[in-house]
Amino acid sequence: MADPTPEEQEEMIKQQCPFCRINRKEIPSKDVYADDKIMAVLDINPAAKGHTVVFPKDHHMLLPQIPYETFSHMFRKTAKLCGVVRKAMLAQGMSIFIASGGAAGQQAYHFTMHLIPRDKGDGLFQSGIKKITPEEIMKLKAPLMQHITARVVQAYKQAGKQPPNVKQQANQEEQLMNLLNANPQIRDLIIQDPEKFKSILPQNPQLAQLFDGMNLEELANFLKKKTAGDQR
Ligand SMILES: [Zn+2]
Repeated sequence: MADPTPEEQEEMIKQQCPFCRINRKEIPSKDVYADDKIMAVLDINPAAKGHTVVFPKDHHMLLPQIPYETFSHMFRKTAKLCGVVRKAMLAQGMSIFIASGGAAGQQAYHFTMHLIPRDKGDGLFQSGIKKITPEEIMKLKAPLMQHITARVVQAYKQAGKQPPNVKQQANQEEQLMNLLNANPQIRDLIIQDPEKFKSILPQNPQLAQLFDGMNLEELANFLKKKTAGDQR
């Protein structure tokens, strides 16, 4: 017997996929919402009362594979469903999560979004949170931003659209380090008195742009350690 073609494989996956089977009514489900593109059902293994799973009716495994129209429709409806579920469950808040890939807890080869009603102190998602130091964040930020920027630009180009002005942001980190290396007096001021440095920013739009959204306290600590390390 010949090996199955990719199309035949895909068909076999759909035959067995629990969410496709729910859509075909082969598995009973507690439906919360359905239209021509998406469905929302109560989770059979809920993390909290009212835990709802939203998924596209067509079989798509991962977020990037979902057609734009279905995707935007699903997010619009999810926003509404979130409010409805929260009110119905008298919950204080909602967690919305997408598990993408097995390591993240995706249990089926079908894209799903989870809406979980939350209350203060409910203890959900408490374990396994790893503390990341400000230094580690600084180290991760530049490569991550560069990667994201490249992907965003690529996606815009593929869609035949002009990419937004994101280049500048990707270089922000590098520009910043160059500036601090070239101007040790600025670096010293940040280290010694981040508050005072913050107060001079409004008078200098270029600096203000470069330091926009940055936690100066963290930066000061980072530079302090870095300077100490360089002198060692
Ligand atoms: Zn499926």
